[in-house]
Amino acid sequence: MSSVTVRVPAKVNVQLSVGPLREDGYHDLVNVFHAVSIFDEVVAKESESITVQVTGDWSDQVPTDGSNLAIRAAQALAKHAGRTYGADLVIKKAIPVAGGMAGGSADAAGALVACNELWGLGLPLEDLMEIAGDLGSDVPFSLMGGTAVGTGRGEQLCELPTGGTFHWVFAPADGGLSTANVYAECDRLREESGVEVPWPKLNDSLMEALGTGDAYALGSHLSNDLQVAALNLRPDLAATLDAGRQHGALGAIVSGSGPTCAFLAIDATHARDLAGSLTATGAARTAVAAHGPVQGAILV
Ligand code: ATP
Repeated sequence: MSSVTVRVPAKVNVQLSVGPLREDGYHDLVNVFHAVSIFDEVVAKESESITVQVTGDWSDQVPTDGSNLAIRAAQALAKHAGRTYGADLVIKKAIPVAGGMAGGSADAAGALVACNELWGLGLPLEDLMEIAGDLGSDVPFSLMGGTAVGTGRGEQLCELPTGGTFHWVFAPADGGLSTANVYAECDRLREESGVEVPWPKLNDSLMEALGTGDAYALGSHLSNDLQVAALNLRPDLAATLDAGRQHGALGAIVSGSGPTCAFLAIDATHARDLAGSLTATGAARTAVAAHGPVQGAILV
């Protein structure tokens, strides 16, 4: 096999509950991931060494050295297999970079699936999931897709059946936010307020809304504990969220650590209209309609 192509989705967190800061610097999370139809593509071609090239939207913001998560994933896979392998990776980026939609994790998951195939390793999903967990908390979900509850740092996953397709609009924001900075701001605000942080708990009403496919109920139960911190760092996002609500979004939240704003629509037509209104009124520079849940990293 000389070339392999894998398609990997972005994610939005429909619930992100952040527990108290642990001694190891992490937080216990209850993280309900939902994979949506904005895809990066990872192509892997036979080569002597592991390299990466990035094309498409956002490509200028992605490193192409050893810090690229796709390279790190390919190296981890080769190490796991116990041999030296090479691959020229080409990432076609559509997922916003540093946007709270797990774009880097998606590319890492894509590289794992692509190189597993290119190198003829035939490793089962469980092995790839284990390697993925070491690469980052969101990488296992990028492999798995669908809708899932993540606990621990977010990497222990349990798949959730959903009762239908949900329609979304995503408004990426210029500049990006560093996930680490948003968590640090969240900790700072919590310390400043002196309020005791409760242990994170799965929202049963949200589970029910997902299970029955009820977009109205899901919209009213979307939650993100990082939102206050993200809005503190990027106050301009509040107006974007408000504009979405005014145009009939069933729910409007910051996606993960932001700054992408996520809006839940009634159906596909409403999602298209909502995306059009957000850009026409200048509330968002760009807005993309998408749906979920979709499959995780797959060969195409
Ligand atoms: P998450 O939602 O998982 O917190 P994010 O979507 O906010 O992450 P990413 O797009 O994954 O953020 O990018 C975070 C940083 O990782 C970027 O600023 C970039 O420098 C670096 N990075 C490394 N590899 C990649 C990659 N393949 N794609 C995107 N960013 C990458």
